[in-house]
Amino acid sequence: MAGWLTRISAATRPSVRWRSMACSSESWRSFRRESSACCSSAAGSRAVGKAITPGLSGHQNLMHFGELRRLDFLHGRSHRIEAHGLHGQPPGRARRGARRRRRPASGRPLSAPDCGRQHLQHPAERDDGARPGRRDPAAPPLFVRGAALPGERRQAQNARAVDRVPVSAGPRVHRRGRRGAGAPFRRFRTDARARPAERDQRAPAPGPSLLRHLQRLRHPPPVAAAGSPGHPPAGPGRGALGARRARPGVPLHGRAPHLTHGGLTMQSKVPVVIVGGGPVGLSMAILLQRFGVDFVLLERSATTTDHPKARGTYTRTMEIFRQWGIDGQMKRHALPDGSDFFAFCESMTGHEWGRTNPEPNVGHSPCWKIIQSQDTVELELLNHARKSEVGRFLFGHEFLHYDEGAGGIAVTGCKVDTGETVTWHAQYLIAADGAASSVRRQADIEMRGPAALAVMANEFWQADLSQVRDAALCAGWRVYAKNSPYPITTVLNTNGKDRWLSLLPVGREVDERIGERTDDEVVRLARTVAGVPNLDVKVINRSVWRMSRQVAASFRKGRVLLVGDSAHRFPPNGGYGMNSGIQDAHNLAWKLAFVLTGRASARLLDSYERERRPVAESNADFSLHNAARFTQCDEALRSGNPERIGFWIRDSDNHIHSIGQSLGFCYEDGAVIPDGTSRHLMRPRWYEPTDRPGARFPHLWLDLARRHTTLDWFDQAFVLVAGPKADEWMEAARAVSGRNGRVVQAHQLDDSHEKDGLLLGLRGAVLVRPDGHVAFRMPWTPPDPAAELSAVLAKLMD
Ligand SMILES: Cc1cc2nc3c(=O)[nH]c(=O)nc-3n(C[C@H](O)[C@H](O)[C@H](O)COP(=O)(O)OP(=O)(O)OC[C@H]3O[C@@H](n4cnc5c(N)ncnc54)[C@H](O)[C@@H]3O)c2cc1C
Repeated sequence: MAGWLTRISAATRPSVRWRSMACSSESWRSFRRESSACCSSAAGSRAVGKAITPGLSGHQNLMHFGELRRLDFLHGRSHRIEAHGLHGQPPGRARRGARRRRRPASGRPLSAPDCGRQHLQHPAERDDGARPGRRDPAAPPLFVRGAALPGERRQAQNARAVDRVPVSAGPRVHRRGRRGAGAPFRRFRTDARARPAERDQRAPAPGPSLLRHLQRLRHPPPVAAAGSPGHPPAGPGRGALGARRARPGVPLHGRAPHLTHGGLTMQSKVPVVIVGGGPVGLSMAILLQRFGVDFVLLERSATTTDHPKARGTYTRTMEIFRQWGIDGQMKRHALPDGSDFFAFCESMTGHEWGRTNPEPNVGHSPCWKIIQSQDTVELELLNHARKSEVGRFLFGHEFLHYDEGAGGIAVTGCKVDTGETVTWHAQYLIAADGAASSVRRQADIEMRGPAALAVMANEFWQADLSQVRDAALCAGWRVYAKNSPYPITTVLNTNGKDRWLSLLPVGREVDERIGERTDDEVVRLARTVAGVPNLDVKVINRSVWRMSRQVAASFRKGRVLLVGDSAHRFPPNGGYGMNSGIQDAHNLAWKLAFVLTGRASARLLDSYERERRPVAESNADFSLHNAARFTQCDEALRSGNPERIGFWIRDSDNHIHSIGQSLGFCYEDGAVIPDGTSRHLMRPRWYEPTDRPGARFPHLWLDLARRHTTLDWFDQAFVLVAGPKADEWMEAARAVSGRNGRVVQAHQLDDSHEKDGLLLGLRGAVLVRPDGHVAFRMPWTPPDPAAELSAVLAKLMD
């Protein structure tokens, strides 16, 4: 320990505001070198220190000071350094520091100009885990400038709602049975929530060996094998973590809090920890709730995002939302049906060269894709998730590190505002922490594929553009403004009314601009692309992000499983990032639930990567081709050749018409038993229903009112779908169901036609997984269907 970097008051050194932090001798020397080069930093932040080192690139500037968590490069000029919790306290101050953290975070409130910069992020910062559109949890509410914007109240309510999530509440203990039915339901409070008197009783103050404690926080012991001396004691009435294996068929949602470290670090047990509360983490949470599997979700931001990124929620995702009963809520935020087209123009009110056609809905699904912005998707997912009593959502909590042992995985996170650390002993850790996933980095899983195709700047602004043709309907405009500093801009329609997101490339690998766009420049940009010189524009927020085409080398490492952008990142063209991620979660959740409840062996989880990786690769290629289509359009428009322009605009239909990509993916290898038939050619534009093993079972309406569909059969159990004359198969399902805790439901079709994609025949059957994908098909009745079915289930799950 060579030195302590101590917060320097803004009055004495306005340029450097450090939190106190421990650092190694080398880091200390390095800090002194760097800090001597510091000069004034414009962008203020109360929770972080900033130092500016001119002349060095962002990556050159990345260094580590002992327990420093992040050293971020901002705007090509300044650094952001964060230290967490007690790590930053010199020994003599630790207790005072701990007391101080119970009070609201100190520091000067952000001034209005500072707030306007909340979303300005350099790609290097994104790389380091930051996320566009996320508010700094320590920052005051956004939109401090000007009049209230439509939807702000909802955002504020949301922020309040999230605040109401008992972030410091102790883990709840769910007992088996329904609460309403009088089943016992108890809550344990951990120290953070306990009243002071209780806290004193239950958790002794830190002992004199605080340094040892700090050491433990930095290097927590690996999770010991179950029952070993180092293993945390089990909670009331429960076996040790590693030894615990629920009885088959029993929802695993009990846990026991365990306090250690004198109330400074809390420990508790939970089957699953999810890191990341974006659309994928929230979907994973909802799926686990449906299976009754308890979890803790850590999200470092205080709220869901307020930056609209994804806007295309595609058919398969809508089918999943329909199953959860939230497709209607999602549609309330969406543009009208038929809005999935792009216009190519000189300005939104000016000359239009052409537009793509909306994709026709030919009824392959009870649902259809919608254009809805990601902020509202996340909001609805969170609202839905919070209706359940299963699981805890800890917003304002950051994942720090994990340690995996034979019996489980210890996941440590901290409360962003106080630095208080908590360790959860879990069976599995789900990394849903986005493209810059820190879980993935710690697991040392590399990403494969080009990391930087372009660096893009998003600007989200408000303006009344009702004079624009199809302003309520058009998904986006590709604007080629003549004689303008913004030659090619994409404008995305986020609410069909008055909120627009403009996207511009700002570099290949790094942001090559001298500085970020000022508010005035964004207003000029908005007026140019709209073609309205006096347009009244308000800047809402911005972000900078890197376009990549990458898929993780592995989706699983031990007890760590990657989902969503942490496993793959695509160009947004085509709209498959969020959709793929939600479908990852849909693929994984039932497997995880089956493994945790003892209905399947842990090997079932290996099928997750084998199934989802080829889909991720396919979606990545599809997205990349779409990005190239835009480039072709750009060149055609530059050429001015009308035939060339027309050709590439027509070709851009292939960008948007992607029902085959959305529904047609088929798992060739994994938790499926191939039947020897050859795979279907996957064509993004065309979907061919099929009951072939690996494919999504086709949708067929079951009633004239078109309310019930075959898709409604698949939710939490395996389902045998039998042909109209396959009574023996139905009997077999009844006979097998219940063995080893494996429920097999059975449904018999009235009709089975090839034109519907059904090859199971009159006397055959297919076994469909809880995620709606066919696991096994036998288009005839074997001599002993029950034995056949038992063997199939054993092959899939043992
Ligand atoms: C302009 C644009 C348009 C797009 N359009 C579409 C589209 O139309 N359709 C589509 O499907 N996709 C689209 N995408 C992609 C989509 O936005 C992403 O694929 C999606 O957000 C991924 O969701 P995620 O939950 O995996 O990750 P994220 O949304 O990045 O969420 C990750 C979460 O983890 C949190 N986190 C990170 N690190 C930590 C930590 N250490 N501790 C705690 N929390 C942490 C972050 O704060 C964040 O909330 C678009 C993207 C962009 C940029």
